[in-house]
Amino acid sequence: QADLAMYQAKASGRNSICFFNPGMQVEMDARVVLESDLHKSWERNEFVLHYQPQGDGQRVIGAEALVRWQHPRRGLLSPSEFIPHAEETGLILPLGTWVLETACAQLAAWARDPAMAWLNLAVNVSPRQFCQPDFVEQVLCILDHAGVNPQKLKLELTESLLLNNMDDTITKIAALKARGVGFALDDFGTGYSSLYYLKCLPLDWVKIDQFFVRDVLTNPNDATIVRAIILLARSMGLEVIAEGVETEAQKLFLAQHGCNAYQGYLLSPPLSSGQFQEFMQQRGGG
Ligand code: C2E
Ligand code: MG
Ligand code: MG
Ligand code: MG
Repeated sequence: QADLAMYQAKASGRNSICFFNPGMQVEMDARVVLESDLHKSWERNEFVLHYQPQGDGQRVIGAEALVRWQHPRRGLLSPSEFIPHAEETGLILPLGTWVLETACAQLAAWARDPAMAWLNLAVNVSPRQFCQPDFVEQVLCILDHAGVNPQKLKLELTESLLLNNMDDTITKIAALKARGVGFALDDFGTGYSSLYYLKCLPLDWVKIDQFFVRDVLTNPNDATIVRAIILLARSMGLEVIAEGVETEAQKLFLAQHGCNAYQGYLLSPPLSSGQFQEFMQQRGGG
């Protein structure tokens, strides 16, 4: 351990002192365990999709598919706990495909139910998944196989998509848009090139991140930023939806400034497929 500490201290450079502490070992062990668990989870089909309703005024317009991992010992894990590892190990590719397939199968099931036939579904796409050369063909093939109208699928991209692949990104979005698939820029404003993306990408929707929505009523800066995002999106002919809306007051503020579409605990937390169906039934299909 002492040698290791010395090695780490040297490796980190001549002007810095860094001791390798036992906490770091624990962290590394936890990561190795998680990554080996992740691999098994894939074989054991431990992933599930939950669906968070999206509203527009009084109407439910669709949902966002959010993946969870039903861990045998640790219970239901949120994506922030495993998506980064899935990205690193490459598991995100089969997982991302599974998410798309499951989401499209769900869309097909809703389309057969008159109480849910109009619903759209938004699916998060990770950068590594989007960068695959055959991403467009994959999405079209999955839609086709499920027999789903492409106009009901909305893909959510985050700002971490590689900047140097801008031409490739635009080509892929355009190809899928030509078939009817919609695109949303997720977590808008939290990345470092938001406006650049807005300028270059042929998007349909901008999602205001919950980071700005949370304190919109108490923090004047947040209020200004939210108003500016709505104005910007609408001036560019884009639709805008707010995430993380938890109170009527937040919803009202957003609506007063031109953003009627929202998603958050106020309407509903993410639900299992069965719970989502009950939720729609209770609302009388609207
Ligand atoms: P996101 O796309 O920004 O999703 C919104 C997150 O906010 C979700 O967390 C949702 O449960 C949470 N949320 C919803 N309403 C509220 C609210 O009123 N208040 C608060 N405080 N939070 C709310 P979740 O499900 O843990 O997902 C976290 C992130 O993981 C997502 O952020 C998305 O970036 C990523 N993710 C989820 N599913 C997938 C997937 O299938 N593929 C990929 N690549 N990423 C995914
Ligand atoms: Mg999202
Ligand atoms: Mg988001
Ligand atoms: Mg977010």
